[in-house]
Order: sequence, then structure tokens, then C-alpha cells
Amino acid sequence: MKIIYDLVVIGGGISSSTFIANILKQGFKGKIAIVEAGRGLGGRCSTRYLSRDKRLALNHGCPNFNIKIHQKNYYLDNFLKELLDKNLIKSLKNSFFELDENYKLLKKCENEFYLGNVYTSATNMSKFVENLIHLYNSKNQIDFYFETLIIKLNYSSKLWNIISNKNEIITGKFLVCSSNLLIHKRSLEILNVSEIPLRKAIDKKSSFKIDEIIKFTNKQEYIKRINFLISTKRNYNLEGIFNKEIIHFIFNHNAQKDIGFERIIFQKQFDNSLGIVVHTRDINFIINKYDREDKNSLYQYVLNKLNTFLIQNHITYKNLLLDDISIMNWRASQPLGEGVPERLQLCDEYNIGFCGDWIQVEGYGSVLGAILSGLNLSNKFIEFY
Ligand SMILES: Cc1cc2nc3c(=O)[nH]c(=O)nc-3n(C[C@H](O)[C@H](O)[C@H](O)COP(=O)(O)OP(=O)(O)OC[C@H]3O[C@@H](n4cnc5c(N)ncnc54)[C@H](O)[C@@H]3O)c2cc1C
Repeated sequence: MKIIYDLVVIGGGISSSTFIANILKQGFKGKIAIVEAGRGLGGRCSTRYLSRDKRLALNHGCPNFNIKIHQKNYYLDNFLKELLDKNLIKSLKNSFFELDENYKLLKKCENEFYLGNVYTSATNMSKFVENLIHLYNSKNQIDFYFETLIIKLNYSSKLWNIISNKNEIITGKFLVCSSNLLIHKRSLEILNVSEIPLRKAIDKKSSFKIDEIIKFTNKQEYIKRINFLISTKRNYNLEGIFNKEIIHFIFNHNAQKDIGFERIIFQKQFDNSLGIVVHTRDINFIINKYDREDKNSLYQYVLNKLNTFLIQNHITYKNLLLDDISIMNWRASQPLGEGVPERLQLCDEYNIGFCGDWIQVEGYGSVLGAILSGLNLSNKFIEFY
């Protein structure tokens, strides 16, 4: 017999994990489906495991998050305390350095991702999201549908049917969209559909809230990022104070113009090799120098820049002994422009809710925003249910 879920959640990133952990904590007893296009949990907070040994892991998206908020938030404080107490996250203090255009270490880091208290996962970013989702899932209330890309939404007889590109149908009484892809005009191209899926499910002027959500969402643009994922041969260390489990080098605006990198993140691996992720924001700076198809010369350019930076600044004394290099293209790394107002997060007349870093809360466009949106929605949902 076909299952009708009490709750269907599209997306398995940090916002939906926060939402789910908190409704389970508050006693939600229903059956939940998490439907995720990717192979696992994490979304933009995810980790790539290398094929030569799955124990080698690189956080190829967001590597850390920071909490700098103006208003005291009881729910956020409790949530963070729990993440720290349960060893899901750890402080990144003394492990990140901002550099100026002369590659001198700055005393104070001004980068928006490193203000306030800065945290990273205790293991890796995907594991952090996985552990979070299972914090209160002791009764196995969640079914996971991975590699399931939803392209259509339908609402009838008070039930949501969400339909994948392989024509699978998952049905639920309440739907949560943690990504705005099904609400944004970019869905037309990415999902190859003729109408924005949420618009198709709910006619214009049937719900003022839904019309507003679609209007606000479609004003948002995205920051693009390209990251290079590098792994070295074994027994490769950074020198002196940089010889740590994790090191972040962050370039200030002028330095970025020179080197072309936004950040370089080093993660020591279990076999004493180094995992390195080079983040770039101004992709044209690098890509325009090369034919997009000619990956080898692009990789060579990045490696040369990286080696020169490391050796000239006495961070290492020898060129990286390369084991592997690949590229990750984040076409939508963070939303830009005004977010969707928090008051629109739950629409009770259509049994639908929204969370994610695209909601206008503190930390909009970052993990903090994603977490706060998940916490807010969990409180609204428990009150509604
Ligand atoms: C390279 C990079 C670096 C970053 N650095 C930082 C940083 O240092 N600090 C910081 O705070 N933030 C950073 N960010 C931003 C941060 O990663 C995001 O703000 C946060 O992860 C958003 O979480 P989310 O749950 O809102 O969305 P997501 O993580 O995007 O989760 C949404 C999920 O929904 C799934 N999905 C979408 N549409 C569908 C569909 N139709 N069917 C099925 N599944 C679907 C997606 O696959 C995704 O897994 C960075 C992002 C990137 C990419």
C-alpha cells in the first residue's frame, strides 16, 4: 500500500536538518520523507569522499559557519550548546588567518564568514548534517529518498504529491521546501519544465502568501563559486603554527584581486596527506585565462599559484606532491538581494512551509540564516500541527 507521509521535506541540507531535529525533539510523532537530489545529506554543506579511499574527505562546499547576531536568541543558543555538547561541531579558533595584499597575516579577520564565534564540524560537513538529522530519530521516523530530483508539485484533496524526473510520486500531508529551486524561474532551465513548479501547483490569486513567496523568491540572484579540490601524497605537512588539523587562509579584497583565490582550506587526512580546497569567487579572473575545456592548463595555473604562495610565505618548503585535483562548480552558492520575509515561512491554508538561507533572517545567505530559518519553521510547524 502506498505510504502517505505526515511530512515530506524536499532537500537534505543544514536548514531542513535543523528543522527536522527540532520538530522531533519537540515530540513530532509523524512519519517523515526526506527527498534529496544528491547522493547524500549536506547540500551546500557537504563533503566529497575520494574514490581511491573513502576515508579521504574534503569539504568541497561550505567549510565553516559563524555566529554573530545582534539579538539574543534563546533557541539558537540552546541549539548551539547542544551541537557542542554532543560533539557535532567544534570551534575554529586560532585555525584561520586573513591575509592582506602583501600576504601579511592581519591581526583581526574582517571576512563576513569569520566574524563572531566560528565553528566547523567535528568530523566533516556531511557527517555534521547526517548526525544532526539523526539526533532525535531514535524511532526511525524518517525515510530517505536520495538521488531523487523533484520536478513537479501537485496539491489536491489536501495532499501534496511530489513527482521526480523518473516519475516516482511521494505523497504527504504537509510539504516543506528547503530549497527555492521549485519556486524560482531558474527551475525552467534546470528542471526543464514549462512553468515554475509551485506556481503550477497553486494558481495565481488562490493564496496571497504563495503569490508573495513566488514574487520575493524570483527577485533573488546567486553568487557563483568555483572550487578546486586537491589532495597531496602522504606525509605532507604545513610548517610551524600552520601544522594543524585544519587551516584556513582567507584573502582580503585586494589580495583576492592578485591571487584570484577567495580562501584556501587545508584539512589533514587520516593518512597524513593533505586535502586542500581552493575557493574562488571571481571565477572569470581564472577561467578567462584558459579555454574552459582545457582543464589541465587550468589546474596547472592553480597549482603554480598555490605553490608560489605557500613557498614564498614559508608555509611549506617544497612544492605540493599532487595526488589528485578536480573542480567543483557551485552555480548557486549563496542568494543575493532581498530574502523571502520570515512571516511567509508557513502557509497553513496549503499545508506548506519553507526554510533555507534564502529566507530573510539574520545570517541571510549563510549557514546561520539556514539554521535560524529551520529553527523558526520548526516552532511555527509544532504550533500549527
Ligand atoms: C563553496 C561554498 C562556500 C560557502 N562558505 C560558507 C561559509 O564559509 N560560511 C557560511 O555560513 N556559509 C557558506 N556557504 C553558504 C552555505 O553553504 C549555505 O548558506 C547553506 O549551506 C544553505 O543551507 P540550506 O539548507 O539552506 O540549503 P542547501 O544546502 O542548498 O540544501 C537544499 C537541498 O535541497 C536539494 N534540492 C534542491 N532542489 C531539489 C529538488 N527539486 N529535488 C530534490 N532535492 C532538491 C539540494 O540538492 C540541496 O541538498 C558556502 C556555500 C558554498 C557553495
